Formats: sequence, structure tokens, C-alpha cells
Amino acid sequence: MNYRIIPVTPFQQNCSLIWCEKTRRAAVVDPGGDLEKIRAAVAEEGVTVEKILLTHAHIDHAGGTAELTKELGIPIEGPQKEDNFWIVGLPQQAQMFGFPAPEVFTPDRWLEDGQQVTVGNQTLEVLHCPGHTPGHVVFYHKESGLALVGDVLFHGSIGRTDFPKGDHATLIRSIREQLFPLGDEVAFIPGHGPMSTFGRERATNPFVSDHRG
Ligand SMILES: [Zn+2]
Repeated sequence: MNYRIIPVTPFQQNCSLIWCEKTRRAAVVDPGGDLEKIRAAVAEEGVTVEKILLTHAHIDHAGGTAELTKELGIPIEGPQKEDNFWIVGLPQQAQMFGFPAPEVFTPDRWLEDGQQVTVGNQTLEVLHCPGHTPGHVVFYHKESGLALVGDVLFHGSIGRTDFPKGDHATLIRSIREQLFPLGDEVAFIPGHGPMSTFGRERATNPFVSDHRG
């Protein structure tokens, strides 16, 4: 699985273009906005986008979804259905953070823990990781040891839990019980900031390291 990170929106959200090398078919994960940057990346890599994947429905992750799906005629997969209130609330989120008003959309497929999504010939596991939002999902590509974790975990930090239906203890549990068991060597692309590995966060993250107990 190849990937390219495209920071978008004033929040510098890590939209990711991921693709199957063999088929050159791709998915855009979390198209929060700045679609011209995403289009440019797609053109430069010469891949065919076949779907949009969403980790959760905050505006900086999902704000460009309706426009992109219309433009390309491709389906939307994710997040888990508990995030529907955030999708319905996208216009209000936009207003609050000064984003252009997005259209609301309905995912073609809601995702659940233990399901899989495909990109070309590649398969990614879906892990439901609530806490930051209740319907947050993570995508994990086992063969390349790569996870796309949205706003669950960051290099040196964790997602905010002060939004409606956010919950700190639930988020910690998602990280420790869903993500860390995937293995120390697994690299992850967070929703913001630099990449890291689960092993590094287990050793050094002030919120979820092993010695924090
Ligand atoms: Zn978020």
C-alpha cells in the first residue's frame, strides 16, 4: 500500500491518498477540504480514485466529502454510524470554525468493527475506536504495517474528548485495547502532525504510555 499525506484546511489535517501499486486504484481518506491540493496529488501520482474513506465526521476531516464524491462519482465508506450527528451537523461545524459551508451527505456504507475495506487489490481492517467521536474508525493495512488513525492518537498526544459524545476513558481504552495490540512496529498516520509508531507512543506518550498505568 502506497500513501501520500496531503495536509488540508487551516487545521492542517492529514488527508491521505492511499493506493494499491498493482492496480493503481486509490482511496482518499478524510478529504476535509482544499480539494485542489487533493486533485493535484491524484494527478501527480497518476492513480484512479475509487472511493472515499472517513475516519470520523469532524469538519476538517469530512468537509470536502460531498463535493469530491459528486465530482468523481465514487462511494463513501465510513465512519461508524454513531458519527451521523456530526455529518448532519457539518454546516454548523463549518460556521463555528469559519470553513466554507459543506453539503451534508449519507455514506454509502457505514462501517463496523471487524469489517474490511478494499482499495484496488489491497484490504484494510476496520477498527471502531470511539472516544474522540463515538463513531470514529481506524483503517489498518496489515501487510505494510500501516494504520490511519484519524484523531484517536497523535505523536506525543491523543485526541480531544471535550466535544459532545467525547469520552476520555473510552478513548484511552480504544488506544490500549484496539491499537496497541496491533504491534509496536506498526506505523501510523495521525489526523494532524507527524507520523509515529505504536511502540514509540507506548514508550513516550504522556497520555497512554505503558508506565502511566
Ligand atoms: Zn476530529
